[in-house]
Amino acid sequence: MNTMLRFYRSHSAQQLLTEMQSLGLRLDGQTAEQPGRGGSGSPSGQTAVTIDGKTIMVPMHTDSALESPFFASPPNEQGVSDLRRNGLVVAQISFPPHPRFYGLQTLDGVPYWKIAELHGADVLVSTVLQNCVRCANRKTACQFCAIGDPLAEGRTIEHKTPHQLAEVARAAVLLDGVKHMVMTTGTPNFKDRGAKILCDSAFAVKTAVDLPIQVQCEPPDDNAWFARLQDVGVDSMAMRLDAVTSEVRARIIPGKAVLSVAHYLEAFELAVRVFGRGQVSTCILAGLGDSADAILRVCEELIDIGVYPFVVPFVPLSGTPLASHPAPTPELMQSILGPLGIMLANRGLRSRDIKAGCGRCGACSTLSTYEA
Ligand code: SF4
Repeated sequence: MNTMLRFYRSHSAQQLLTEMQSLGLRLDGQTAEQPGRGGSGSPSGQTAVTIDGKTIMVPMHTDSALESPFFASPPNEQGVSDLRRNGLVVAQISFPPHPRFYGLQTLDGVPYWKIAELHGADVLVSTVLQNCVRCANRKTACQFCAIGDPLAEGRTIEHKTPHQLAEVARAAVLLDGVKHMVMTTGTPNFKDRGAKILCDSAFAVKTAVDLPIQVQCEPPDDNAWFARLQDVGVDSMAMRLDAVTSEVRARIIPGKAVLSVAHYLEAFELAVRVFGRGQVSTCILAGLGDSADAILRVCEELIDIGVYPFVVPFVPLSGTPLASHPAPTPELMQSILGPLGIMLANRGLRSRDIKAGCGRCGACSTLSTYEA
């Protein structure tokens, strides 16, 4: 069945997805709880939605999503819902089924869903350390960050051991066919900045199951960590810039901004030498104050180095200082993703060639649809 009924007049599928990801989705009360998968590493406030075969993350539990023109009705027997925009049915959507590995637990009684969770269509994600040296102090914490919330709400455990991660990864591959894994971490110290904990975790997972892995952390102090990570089998690496101009970095990520963009660019060059062109990426949040031009300028530099710049719409999370910050408009997203998609295609840097990670998953941004 062609799941796309029709598109809003003058709207392409790409525009519809970009709009919905910026504006969010309201659900009929009966279904509001159904899609949330819960777990350790979920992009908070968002839910996976499949539309025309593509799974994207859509803000659904945020303040701004309450105002969205997009509304979904309860799913029918096949699990399909009508998607309405200002009351007009524009497409049909479905919610990915509950993963089977969520029903298991470790021998010591920790549910697997508290250790890692399924994101997008086929990626296993874990926040290995659900804590950060900066988060106790709002003056140094990233203003959008809610890393402590799942822990405080009992939805995860603080430190997932290498053994636990290996056990869950093996089950997720066998039971749910996951294709790649993302391991991210809060920053535990100002030296390796999480590289060691990720190294130990990746080694255990790779020993248990053949699964491409991306690790995500801040640039470690010792560049030898890039080779160490690759030695234990890590396939790709991400270091999040989040914002690109000094003013926005100082305001939004005051602690992380101690490392300048220039410092990140040096780290990216070294990481690309180890992991290869296109296997190193970064995440940039659009909508926090950086202009489209500023973001595109930095993206061009990144692409020159061989880094995939995954630009995603900022999602304001409840309970953070940015809870009432507006989400980026669809127009801003299109003004960035359009030219960026062309840049990536022209330089042969495509999401589909990334072995593992957010860029390959592509659920938190519609960037890959602009690479065609
Ligand atoms: S892009 Fe990354 S954070 Fe977003 S759903 Fe995919 S794996 Fe998760």
